[in-house]
Parts: sequence; structure tokens; C-alpha cells
Amino acid sequence: MPEKTLFEKIRDREIPADIVHEDDHCLAFRDISPQAPLHILVVPKKAIPRIASASEDDARLLGSLLIAAAAVAAKHGIADSGFRLVINNGRDGGETVPHLHIHLLGGRPLDWPPG
Ligand code: 5GP
Repeated sequence: MPEKTLFEKIRDREIPADIVHEDDHCLAFRDISPQAPLHILVVPKKAIPRIASASEDDARLLGSLLIAAAAVAAKHGIADSGFRLVINNGRDGGETVPHLHIHLLGGRPLDWPPG
């Protein structure tokens, strides 16, 4: 059995997190180091390391993650003001946790392009 990722441990309540949404396929919780007034991570319960390692079999799951992220944004009142969804992939993408996650960022104007 491979060691659980950090986000699997949060999924399994082995590490505490401020969970704001859960359904059959995904979990959403506040980032421990928020980069915006609202910074939530939306993660699949299935341990897919990163978007580059997702397969065609994951297509429905990936769609449901995006739908969940938009619903969480709406629940937190930023659907109209706007928000950003980010997936960091690999070293140059800034990935630090090898368990696929979507960053939901909002609550302030966000610069473009990102750094
Ligand atoms: P990445 O850099 O891989 O795209 O994003 C990983 C994110 O996980 C970072 O924004 C980081 O702040 C967050 N993070 C790392 N450790 C923890 C933790 O133990 N709990 C929570 N809630 N977020 C974490």
C-alpha cells in the first residue's frame, strides 16, 4: 500500500482541515496558507497525483470537480464578483502536493498574468 498523500489524510480525517464541502467524489477545504481572502482547495477523493496523470476514465470526475468549485464559490458569495481556478502541475507549475487539487481564489481582484 503506497503511503497516503497529505490530502488523502485530510480526506480520511487523519489531519484536521476546515472542510467547506464534501460529496461522493470530492472534498473542499480552506488552504492553510491563503493567498486571497477566499482560498479553498477542491480535491478528488481518488488519489490522482496531478492533472497530467489523469486519464480518460477520470473525465467525469474532473468535470464534477469544476462544478463543485463553482458551487463553493457561489456558496461563499463570490460568483458575481469573480474568482479564479488554478491547477499547478509539476515543478515549473508550482505543484507542491502530489494529489490533484484545484485552487479556488477570490475575494479580491487577482493580477494577470500570475507570477
Ligand atoms: P500546490 O502548491 O501543490 O499547487 O498547492 C498545495 C497547497 O496546499 C498550498 O497552497 C498549501 O498552502 C496547501 N497546504 C499544504 N499543506 C496543507 C495542510 O496541511 N492543510 C491545508 N489545508 N492546506 C495545505
